[in-house]
Amino acid sequence: MNDESSTDFIRDIINHDLETGRYDRVHTRFPPEPNGFLHIGHAKSICLNFGIAEEYGGKCNLRFDDTNPSTEEETYVQSIIEDVRWLGFDWEDRLFFASDYFDQMYEYAVQLVEKGRAYVDDLSAEEIRRYRGTLTQPGTNSPYRDRPVEGNLDLLERMKEGEFGDGEKVLRARIDMAHPNMNMRDPVMYRILRATHHRTGDRWCIYPTYDWAHGLEDSIEGITHSICTLEFENHRPLYDWFLDQLGVYRPRQIEFARLNLTYTVMSKRMLRSLVEGGQVSGWDDPRLPTIRGMRRRGYPPAAIRDFCQRIGVSKSESTIPMELLEHCVRDELNRTAPRYMGVLHPLKVILDNYPRDQVEYMGVENSPEDPAAGTRQVPFSRVLYIEREDFREHPPKKYYRLAPGREVRLKNAYLITCQEAIKEDGEVTALRCTVDPATRGGDAPDGRSVRATLHWVSAPHAVDAEVRLYQRLFTVEDPAGQGRDFKEHLNPHSLRTLTSCKVEPAVRELASVERFQFLRQGYFCVDPDTAGDHLIINQTVELRDTWARISRQMAKNR
Ligand code: ATP
Ligand code: MG
Repeated sequence: MNDESSTDFIRDIINHDLETGRYDRVHTRFPPEPNGFLHIGHAKSICLNFGIAEEYGGKCNLRFDDTNPSTEEETYVQSIIEDVRWLGFDWEDRLFFASDYFDQMYEYAVQLVEKGRAYVDDLSAEEIRRYRGTLTQPGTNSPYRDRPVEGNLDLLERMKEGEFGDGEKVLRARIDMAHPNMNMRDPVMYRILRATHHRTGDRWCIYPTYDWAHGLEDSIEGITHSICTLEFENHRPLYDWFLDQLGVYRPRQIEFARLNLTYTVMSKRMLRSLVEGGQVSGWDDPRLPTIRGMRRRGYPPAAIRDFCQRIGVSKSESTIPMELLEHCVRDELNRTAPRYMGVLHPLKVILDNYPRDQVEYMGVENSPEDPAAGTRQVPFSRVLYIEREDFREHPPKKYYRLAPGREVRLKNAYLITCQEAIKEDGEVTALRCTVDPATRGGDAPDGRSVRATLHWVSAPHAVDAEVRLYQRLFTVEDPAGQGRDFKEHLNPHSLRTLTSCKVEPAVRELASVERFQFLRQGYFCVDPDTAGDHLIINQTVELRDTWARISRQMAKNR
């Protein structure tokens, strides 16, 4: 049983079901439609379904809800499988496809027709809409509603055999055209659609609707708790009705609020439009909230799981600040990512009193958070790069970094003093500095202190890199809200590409998508487009954590 401290309304229901014996086990499923790539909203559902199964010693199926051949593709199936696995979940041998149940679903439909609970309707889609009535007005019965069972069985069979054109007839449940819940007004179960299905090919020309298919899928698989998002709440009576009419095993459907995140969009339609419109480079663009995008950006799966755990589940819609997700990423990377030095905006430093051909190797710990991560040797020489913004010719108050005449520490190396700035056309192009040889390792024997410690890279050893810096994809918190055209709020500065960065040699040895920290800069990872000498690095997240401030603000507003 679940531990009391982390309970929520879904776990309360499950606990109750186990206590009362409604179910003696827990079996959930994650049911994506293979019509797009997964996003962080899906991650919430994945973590919930797989997480609950794990907590209760139960099972969770991965099931493709592939009932609509016109939008579904095999490539999405593969990418979804990969993404769920990457998030860290395992369905063992329980990978299922709704299309595997098409024969059985058809058999069930025949049973409903035989019971007088379903009929073939000749009305057009438009007429069906009109006959349906409104929230305040009851619907009207179709003139075909009282066809005899034999006629319905014959027509259904002929629909299946392809005797009719697309949209010419549908199979509908025979419930109640005056039902206060519109979903119960004789909903469509099958429509005629000639489209090649990614698994069943051209074997079928009738396809089940979501409402008809989903409960059957859950029932066939012996799901106990069918967890879905709130928009299906009004469909639950229908979910129950179908299964009860058939007299088959019935799972319990539970609805929760979908995840919304600030400064992004999550609907597949909008994501696709960004990809197809060329506003992003593809489904794995690191600025997108897709699993592929976040993976390429360097978000660790553990951070996404942690995020989903922290946001919990509820019955009311809310929008989660992006800062919380970034906080989780930072938290995880702080504990797990090795540290390196990289200079994004290089400024050359020449150490006048350091021997010309000398190279020293400085022992540097890989992670202050993890002594087991060991140390590495970082080359140091007479010519170095430091960050351009770590020098000011005329330092303002409280600027403690390098300036003419000032001494600073080079991390894990020496104290150096700036003697002179070399300029060309008024712009500083290099610094002449001196090093105090007695300060190797970074400490002065006389105990004098400096106020700044800078990162650096030895120029002859430096590896060139392209670094891609990311900001929010949109400039407003809710780009799709209030009837806005979401593309009007795209942030023109969401990607900044720096092409002349200098990084320490060890970074070149990192594998694709391996994550690390650049000291004082943030977390980064190697982009999979890296090839040969062209090293490409993605910024994962800045070091600065804004979550603490935001959460204080939210607490105050509550
Ligand atoms: P979209 O609205 O982006 O097209 P969808 O709901 O059509 O998403 P599905 O493939 O049907 O996508 O979703 C699979 C599962 O993920 C469903 O159970 C769905 O409820 C859940 N899901 C989708 N979006 C979210 C979200 N933003 N938050 C939580 N769960 C979600
Ligand atoms: Mg859906």
